[in-house]
Amino acid sequence: MDCIFCKIVEGAIPSKKVYENEHVLAFHDIQPAAAVHVLIIPKKHIPTMNDAAGEDFALIGEIHKAAQIVAKELGIADSGYRLVNNCGKDGGQVVFHIHYHLLGGEKLSALNVRD
Ligand code: 5GP
Ligand code: ZN
Repeated sequence: MDCIFCKIVEGAIPSKKVYENEHVLAFHDIQPAAAVHVLIIPKKHIPTMNDAAGEDFALIGEIHKAAQIVAKELGIADSGYRLVNNCGKDGGQVVFHIHYHLLGGEKLSALNVRD
C-alpha cells in the first residue's frame, strides 16, 4: 500500500517520534504550523474519518488519550492546545490515513473556516 503514514509506522520512512503504544504513534509534523505540531495516528490504516467503523472508534479514543499524554510531556497541557482532524477534500486532508494534529506551544489564531 502506498501510504506515507503506514511507512512511518513500519519505520520505512523516518520520523521524530514523541509517543508510541500498541495502538497509536505520535511524531512531529515535517512542516510545523505552530511551535508544537505533532501528528497522532492509529497504527491501523483507516483512510478518513468517514471510513471509521466499529472498533475504530476505540482507536480514536486512544488517539485522544495519546494527545493528553503528549501534551503533558511537551509541556503544553496547561497552556492549552488544539486537536484537529481534517477529513476529505473540503477539510483539507492531504494524507489519507486518519491523523489528528496536536497544535500548541503558542497562542493559536482563531479557527479559520475559510481561506
Ligand atoms: P492533512 O492536511 O492531511 O491533515 O495533514 C497532513 C500533514 O502531514 C501535514 O501537516 C504535513 O506536513 C504532514 N506530513 C506529510 N508528509 C509527512 C512526512 O513524511 N513526515 C511527517 N512527519 N509529516 C508529514
Ligand atoms: Zn496508512
